[in-house]
Amino acid sequence: MSGSAAIQFTKVSIDMLILLLLTALLQAQNYEYDLLLKGGHVIDMASNRNGVMDVAVADGKIAAVAANIPAGDAFKVVNVAGYYVTPGLIDIHAHVVGGRAERPSYPADLNFSSGLTTIVDAGTHGADNFANFRKNVVNHSKIRVLGMVNIVRAGMGGDREQDPKLMDAKLCAETINANRDIAVGVKTAHYWTGQPWDKEHPPWAAVDGAVQCGKLANVPVMVDFWPRDGRTYDDLILKHMRPGDIHTHVFAQQFPLLDAQGKVQKYMHEARKRGIIFDVGHGAGSFWWRQAVPVMQQGFWPDSISTDLHSANWNGPVVNMITTMSKFLAMGMPMHEVIRRSTVNPAREIKRPELGTLTVGREADIAVLEVLKGKFGYSDCGRAKFVGDSKIEARVTLKAGRIVHDPTGVTMYSYDKAPPSYYKTPKLQGVEPGAIAEPDLPSRKAAASTRK
Ligand SMILES: [Zn+2]
Repeated sequence: MSGSAAIQFTKVSIDMLILLLLTALLQAQNYEYDLLLKGGHVIDMASNRNGVMDVAVADGKIAAVAANIPAGDAFKVVNVAGYYVTPGLIDIHAHVVGGRAERPSYPADLNFSSGLTTIVDAGTHGADNFANFRKNVVNHSKIRVLGMVNIVRAGMGGDREQDPKLMDAKLCAETINANRDIAVGVKTAHYWTGQPWDKEHPPWAAVDGAVQCGKLANVPVMVDFWPRDGRTYDDLILKHMRPGDIHTHVFAQQFPLLDAQGKVQKYMHEARKRGIIFDVGHGAGSFWWRQAVPVMQQGFWPDSISTDLHSANWNGPVVNMITTMSKFLAMGMPMHEVIRRSTVNPAREIKRPELGTLTVGREADIAVLEVLKGKFGYSDCGRAKFVGDSKIEARVTLKAGRIVHDPTGVTMYSYDKAPPSYYKTPKLQGVEPGAIAEPDLPSRKAAASTRK
């Protein structure tokens, strides 16, 4: 080997070495995941997971759920030990727009503060104004907003709901068919609860009309009901509703849930066996401890937990979804059963099984929850209270991988350990990048591009 050949060989080797080193360095920066939630107690009842596990997110999707995912694989790692990690919660009975009596309501995105990532507006709108719902609410919300179409074409509200001529099953089904991406059911409520029956107002007009629409559009019906002579509760759940239809407000005062001996009525069990869904739908008037406690104690638990939240009950007694869920934990329902009833069950009830689960490949809608132990009072609709020993707090909510709620800073660094960019004040407002150093959407790709 000549001298120059030896030098040549050495140079090639050094080049190779540098290339190898660079590749290794690049791979280290090439994170597999954007975000890793580490060490939390995962509850995902759709896949029967209930234990300590890590959850990794990439490109807004669930990328992995497993024990001990290496921290080095993720651009951002959040320690969630001591917290529960669950699918983003689902509330199938809410009212996010002024409906009844045109009362003002609240922004749908406020629900992120309860760990919710999907809400269903339960029939505030009918065929005549469902387009407004899409335009004014769905399109302006970051949270996933779905809707049920009221059997009353003019939607919810006082006199309108009393006129069977406004209940058009065919038009209702056409509206659902034209809005399949957001319309998940039919709603009936508040029909003829006080006046005597007459020719214009037959007892079952609203329920039967809604079921007719449900059949035509092949969607479930959610029923808000007041039993009375000529229209009994057992006839509702045994004869008029179909399997898969949802009785909301199950713990309202007007339902004869218990027999004279205080036992859960046989027809409740029969109805459940034939597939009737029992939903909470707390609301301003539909959750009473005197109904819920004895029924729960006998092991007859609702299938789904929902709020019926609107502007007249979010200062109480409902407050929000997480408070409603806490009431069931306080009554003795185990945490994983509370989560089942606020994730996978409601998802199945509205035939959206892709929601309410942490299955790999699904949108990264995630709630990080904490259960506090102590003494906590909870109110019902009769201004009575129940004192329990536990309370659920929503700590972090992720919608499609984006951190949309984190009031206590679980995902954040301590201000005194923040990177220099946090301490840099721009000279001009809005012209230079501001002081926020940490984006709400952790992204390994964005991080790689800023490194160039
Ligand atoms: Zn309602």
